[in-house]
Amino acid sequence: MHIQKPRLLTPGPTPLYPKALQAMMGAEIHHRTQDFRDLYLSVLADLKVVLGTAHDVLILASSGTGAMEAAVTNCFSPGDRVIVCSAGKFGERWVELAQAYGLDVLTLSAPYGSVVEPATLAQALAANPDVKGVFVQASESSTGAAHDVRAMGKIAQATPALFVVDAITGIGTMPLAIDPWGLDFVIGGSQKAFMLPPGLAFLSISPKAWERMDAARLPRYYFDLRREKKNAAKGESSWTPATSLILGLAEVLKYLKTLGMDQLIDNAQQLAAATRAACGALGLELFAPGSPSGAVTAIQAPPGLSSSVIVKEFRQKFGSIIADGQGEMKGRIFRIGHLGYFDIVDLFALVAELELILNANGVPVKLGTGVAAVQTHYASHTAGKKQPVAV
Ligand SMILES: *Cc1c(COP(=O)(O)O)cnc(C)c1O
Repeated sequence: MHIQKPRLLTPGPTPLYPKALQAMMGAEIHHRTQDFRDLYLSVLADLKVVLGTAHDVLILASSGTGAMEAAVTNCFSPGDRVIVCSAGKFGERWVELAQAYGLDVLTLSAPYGSVVEPATLAQALAANPDVKGVFVQASESSTGAAHDVRAMGKIAQATPALFVVDAITGIGTMPLAIDPWGLDFVIGGSQKAFMLPPGLAFLSISPKAWERMDAARLPRYYFDLRREKKNAAKGESSWTPATSLILGLAEVLKYLKTLGMDQLIDNAQQLAAATRAACGALGLELFAPGSPSGAVTAIQAPPGLSSSVIVKEFRQKFGSIIADGQGEMKGRIFRIGHLGYFDIVDLFALVAELELILNANGVPVKLGTGVAAVQTHYASHTAGKKQPVAV
């Protein structure tokens, strides 16, 4: 056993779409040319189709957090009262970000592994009618839990508050009806279900959010969305765009239009369900059993075994990269991604690796038990379904 192939199995960065990777090699281009303008316009139009929204969609050259920051700086003023629904490390990022810009943050926190219930948000909004914004993660990647953004959006929609959704691992893993659900900002990132390297952030912006921008008094420059929108209409970005990633994105969007966004979502959700079935068969506990995300499954390390050892052995024995817990969850949970360019064969391999690692570390499991659960899930969910789209 001398050859080891690297495999990226984390909830971000995710495996790369091969045609996108090839397209990115054509990056010796200038962005202030008609060819690039045409490309940029078609990418923006395709992104809108893939996200399924009539709202404006913009692309920023940053990781996902840049778009989170843009949502804050473009629509709020110092001292504005906002609610953050926080259920993990990324919820805490909203709190830190909003506080860094001087917003008055009311935090509704759920314990790690749980979510903030829509009823809790409804009560908080009723008790605080001056709230200007509600921030949430559609999928909280640090715990593997998903919020009910549909119900939360409906609640926020009936108030003056903007509903700002970090959907960085929500896009492509759960249904998001942006316009009817009242999702004022929906934020995405290239290194998640978009199958690209890190470096691009996406946002959809509702008319309700645009109305707030001129009056909002927080400073903004690089991420001024009004300027970005004006330029985007001409096929340009305000600053030098990440041209190689835009070339890659064009290929990914072409693929997603062929595949269908609902198929991408179903793919992630079936992989997540099969992973949960494998955990059940192997006697492993899930970290967020109540509202599991389709993007990532967080699994508790068995008693007496650190998840950091499991993560290390995946890498050392098999060349597979999975994610440990973040912050105080490090050593306690390990996380497996399902979003974007993952297939069932990745999961067969991953669960087989996991069984070997458990056995080698004093957690006896019968080899093949978890793999059989994944195979059974696969067999029952593919019967009579249409064939996958080959690339
Ligand atoms: C990955 C991720 C982010 C963004 O992180 P960046 O490192 O800035 O790309 C934000 N929220 C969630 C839920 C994520 O999974």
